[in-house]
Amino acid sequence: MAPSAVVVGGGIGGLSAALGLRRAGWRVTVLERAAAFRPVGAGVVLQANGLRCLDELGVGDAVRQGGRPDMSGGTRRADGRWLARIEAGRLERTLGTPAYGIHRAALHQILLDALPADVTVRTGAQVIDVTTDGEVVHRGDDGDVHAEADLVVAADGIRSTVRKKLWPEASGAAPIGVTAWRGVTPVWHGDLVVAISWDRGAEFGIVPLADGRVYWYAAVNAAPGAPPAPVDPRFQRWHDPIPELIAATDTVLQDDLACLDEPLPTYVRGRVVLLGDAAHAMTPHLGQGANQALEDAVVLASVAGRPDGPAAYDRQRRPRSQQVARASRMMGRYGQQLDNPVAVAARNALIRAVPPRLALRSMARYAGWRPPH
Ligand SMILES: Cc1cc2nc3c(=O)[nH]c(=O)nc-3n(C[C@H](O)[C@H](O)[C@H](O)COP(=O)(O)OP(=O)(O)OC[C@H]3O[C@@H](n4cnc5c(N)ncnc54)[C@H](O)[C@@H]3O)c2cc1C
Repeated sequence: MAPSAVVVGGGIGGLSAALGLRRAGWRVTVLERAAAFRPVGAGVVLQANGLRCLDELGVGDAVRQGGRPDMSGGTRRADGRWLARIEAGRLERTLGTPAYGIHRAALHQILLDALPADVTVRTGAQVIDVTTDGEVVHRGDDGDVHAEADLVVAADGIRSTVRKKLWPEASGAAPIGVTAWRGVTPVWHGDLVVAISWDRGAEFGIVPLADGRVYWYAAVNAAPGAPPAPVDPRFQRWHDPIPELIAATDTVLQDDLACLDEPLPTYVRGRVVLLGDAAHAMTPHLGQGANQALEDAVVLASVAGRPDGPAAYDRQRRPRSQQVARASRMMGRYGQQLDNPVAVAARNALIRAVPPRLALRSMARYAGWRPPH
């Protein structure tokens, strides 16, 4: 009989892992605590590495159709002046594909639709206990249900229950002192230039989506735990069309950003592996969190059937994902979070001086990754 896997969590990481394992011949069950999958969330940017993983999972074309390529981009100041600009097509020539912006709900639905009917996806199933022998207990309307699997994939996000149970010594997610708002506008008819804009301790990002809507996010330094608030008023004074994008948006999500500050010494305990944010929740400053979850999923699927599968997964994924997490933290510290005016001026001068070729090379360090064959 084919080996069995239980995937805890039906987010981007969990569904990708389920798809990859099923394509590798596993019997797969996904346990998701939410009562139903709802089309929530804002946007996400899939970079070349994530797109290659989606190709490997057989859904790359569907994602390209449901997303929109970012053909150019760059970094601006709050007044709109460019610090660095990457001309259309150059990213594509360097990395083999442009990045794609897509609504999270669309990506999630593509992954869900791609799962064959014999993959069991159980919603309203909150995992409450797991052992290293592959026993899983989940709680639902009918009480507690026990299951056993050859492999348990914990893709239960930044506040992972499985990590807390089996990695009790790990310090868990820590706030980084930044709050972020995310929104998606209705169809947008004005001019739009894709960019990230920075000012002291603040960032605004603009990502057009395939259907004419625009995903945007705004982040500012803020003490953790403050009550939810409307989008910081300083963005009203930023360059066009930032104030208009915010004004056009009905539903805005807000989160205090957090990450796993202390890297885990292993992603594997017995038959249990951690994947995605459960393993390496990172700050969003490099836009790599979901892309790294996709890398985890394809690597896991490629090694899971081997006798040393979990160990090989840990070997291939931990150094890489933790390096990306470190780089993302650093990007935040010297980018959005930098507040000192002298340091900001020096940083901006440095960005203006760096030739686009070098900026692209540094991007390729993360987005240039290819799945194993
Ligand atoms: C502001 C912001 C912007 C971002 N932008 C980008 C970007 O542009 N590009 C990018 O690559 N990444 C981005 N990210 C990061 C990305 O969102 C995450 O890395 C990614 O969604 C992680 O996916 P996941 O499946 O590991 O976890 P999640 O998406 O958190 O999914 C976890 C799932 O597990 C379920 N679950 C939790 N506990 C249990 C339990 N006990 N039992 C059963 N189910 C459970 C949850 O309900 C959820 O469905 C951004 C993050 C933020 C905060």
